[in-house]
Amino acid sequence: MRSIVLATHNPGKVSEITDLLKKFNLKIYSAKYFKITEPIESGKTFAENAIIKSLYVSKKTNLPSLADDSGLCVPILNNQPGIFSARWAGKEKNFQKASNLIEQKMRNICSMTKKNREAFFCCALSLSIPNGDIYTFEGKVHGHLQFPPKGNNGFGYDSIFVPLKFKKTFGEMTHKYKERISHRKKAFIKLEKYLFKV
Ligand code: IMP
Repeated sequence: MRSIVLATHNPGKVSEITDLLKKFNLKIYSAKYFKITEPIESGKTFAENAIIKSLYVSKKTNLPSLADDSGLCVPILNNQPGIFSARWAGKEKNFQKASNLIEQKMRNICSMTKKNREAFFCCALSLSIPNGDIYTFEGKVHGHLQFPPKGNNGFGYDSIFVPLKFKKTFGEMTHKYKERISHRKKAFIKLEKYLFKV
């Protein structure tokens, strides 16, 4: 069985990615298993940060590594928090506080019409192979923000994001349902096409 190391310490991501990789019969490890620290995410885009993470873990383990860099982008806020989505929640990973900050920043500059509340999640996946090859795949899901937050499922900003054509936030959806339509799933569909070829 082939092995892969997930270059993330985020339990929400580990769980979603493990589910999405099920069909490939891979032995899946998390970076935590190898006690690997997280590298500094100094990239300017989701893809650059994903590559930094997958390369780092692949070099440390000499195994293929898959990294996810993702976040919430709010066009009316110039696509903030974007690549800083995790950092807005602080060391204590307080996404209630981060969601309040988004709401406050929006209220300072605009009325809360549905148009102004448009947002999207973006996910960049990067697969690094020990031979030095790197593959990246990107997926997005568009929708709008909902305040106050609703739902206790999922992680991060799930409870304030309502995907297009839905009335529920990601936080109100089951894990399985979110998985069918998420930005991560869309990036995965592209990754799968590659994995099925090799
Ligand atoms: P990073 O990719 O580890 O830098 O962190 C991305 C951050 O974006 C996460 O900590 C979450 O706050 C947010 N994020 C990414 N994907 C999702 C998602 O599917 N739901 C909710 N929040 C997400």
